[in-house]
Amino acid sequence: MKTNILEVPFDNLTKEEALTKLLEFLDSNKNNLLVTPNPEIVMEANGDKELLKILSEADLVVPDGIGIILAGKIMKNKIKERVAGCDLIFSLFDKMKDTDKTVYLLGAEPGVAEIAKSNMEEKYKNLKIVGVHNGYFDEKEEELIIKEIQDLKPDILLVGLGCPKQEKWIYKNKDRLPVKISAGIGGGIDTMAGKVKRAPKIFQKIGLEWLHRLILEPRRIFRVKKIPLFLIRCFKARS
Ligand code: UDP
Repeated sequence: MKTNILEVPFDNLTKEEALTKLLEFLDSNKNNLLVTPNPEIVMEANGDKELLKILSEADLVVPDGIGIILAGKIMKNKIKERVAGCDLIFSLFDKMKDTDKTVYLLGAEPGVAEIAKSNMEEKYKNLKIVGVHNGYFDEKEEELIIKEIQDLKPDILLVGLGCPKQEKWIYKNKDRLPVKISAGIGGGIDTMAGKVKRAPKIFQKIGLEWLHRLILEPRRIFRVKKIPLFLIRCFKARS
């Protein structure tokens, strides 16, 4: 069942249920799109029809960010719990590590995805990251990347180009990508590489991960400042 937050239809699932769904996708025979919108992305989608269409057509839409849970409360469209995209991917890695399922990482600055691969393969022993590429490429290189993905046929493609670039890239190429799950993971490759530290568990638990990130990356104020407007819109939209 879907829960609408300012036109973006979220799947109302717990983290465990979302993980089960991803495991089902791994056994399907199509490219399933996972998106993890936070309030900034919902706001962006309200002014970007193409992004809204992609989010609406995605196979799994999980609420990344405490702001979405708050919005659910305001609009009386309850959302079960926050499902941080990063946590979901790490839980998936944990489930996949002793199977023959494989991963491809696309994104971040040159050299970062290689470090991410080695960190993740160290942490999740036997995880198979079969290919990586940085996120700064031209059209000619893009064809080579797609060819490589077609040859390697990874089960999961994680794209970290920032939103909405990554969602639009996946959507544009989805029929040419022989994978079972495609997901935009923003700065997730930087996190895997240890370039960006996640907030301490206590911040994550009480819903203040965004504050920790803002302290580390003050330039994010330009994004975070949209959140009050997001909440005002949610108040206006409730009937
Ligand atoms: N990035 C990229 N190619 C681009 C633009 C951005 O690979 O053309 C990467 C950038 O290096 C960073 C990520 O995309 O690793 C964006 O991270 P950010 O935290 O800004 O994304 P968000 O999580 O907010 O979507």
